[in-house]
Amino acid sequence: MESVIFHVDVNSAFLSWEAVYRIQVKRERLDLRTIPSAVGGDVKKRHGIILAKSLPAKRYNIQTGESVSEACKKCPELVLVPPQYELYERCSEAFLSILKQYSPNVEQYSIDEAYCDMTGTKYIYESPYEITCEIKDRIYKELGFTFNVGISCNKLLAKMASDLKKPNMVHTLYPKEIKEKMWRLPVSDLFYVGRATTKKLHTLGIHTIGELARTDIGILRSHLKKYGELIYDFANGRDTSYVIDERPKNKGYGNSTTIPFDIDNRNAARMVFLVLAETVCTRLRKDGVSAAVVAISIVDFEFRHCSHQGRMP
Ligand SMILES: [Mg+2]
Repeated sequence: MESVIFHVDVNSAFLSWEAVYRIQVKRERLDLRTIPSAVGGDVKKRHGIILAKSLPAKRYNIQTGESVSEACKKCPELVLVPPQYELYERCSEAFLSILKQYSPNVEQYSIDEAYCDMTGTKYIYESPYEITCEIKDRIYKELGFTFNVGISCNKLLAKMASDLKKPNMVHTLYPKEIKEKMWRLPVSDLFYVGRATTKKLHTLGIHTIGELARTDIGILRSHLKKYGELIYDFANGRDTSYVIDERPKNKGYGNSTTIPFDIDNRNAARMVFLVLAETVCTRLRKDGVSAAVVAISIVDFEFRHCSHQGRMP
């Protein structure tokens, strides 16, 4: 039986969650999503970076990851709100718990994204589209925010589908639709293809996903090694990884996050580590255990890993 995989992705997650919080909890009338607004680190000092922005802010060409001062230059009336990581975790949990009512196999990919294996729903619902509408309506009613859904037969295609037009959309990207929907996209839109790889591919004359898909695999191998094979498979819509609902248990306590932009300075990196460490420590205290070895790993935008660890006295 062919798999049915969903990739769900909350639209402007941090901003949406803040907007809903202000409306539902603080009883504010203003919906941040309807005005130029953004979540930015250290708003008072006017430095830090834009973590998420509203659609009206996007129209001013404000980009996630750019500096707050840069963004304010583009749009002086931009309303900035500070990040609230605890709120995001609560929203993320509520979101996932509803998804888990529709699939026994939900893999959290980041704080606002998940893969759901919906293969079994064939027996209950007429079509994947029907169940998607039900989930979308329900989450909007109960939690107040929208998200994109990508539907396909594997994780890669589902992920690519959910990235098509935003917000609040449902897209399919089945193998027979790859040519029409995916191959015309710039190669930088392909999952796993970061800025450095895009540059390399451009020098090879590869500009679209379709061009990558039709490139001789030998050429890609010689320039990009194993990684070249991976993105070649992706460009052709091939992905054999499974939706895994729980990471294998181990004796350690860990926490991770995916940042939607490159972290390239110490302060921003420290902020991310602090947020991650805080929740890990809370869990350690709750379980009444202590740790001896601390390890940190980083995976960059090309999925290169690096890690360090140290033993505490
Ligand atoms: Mg998102």
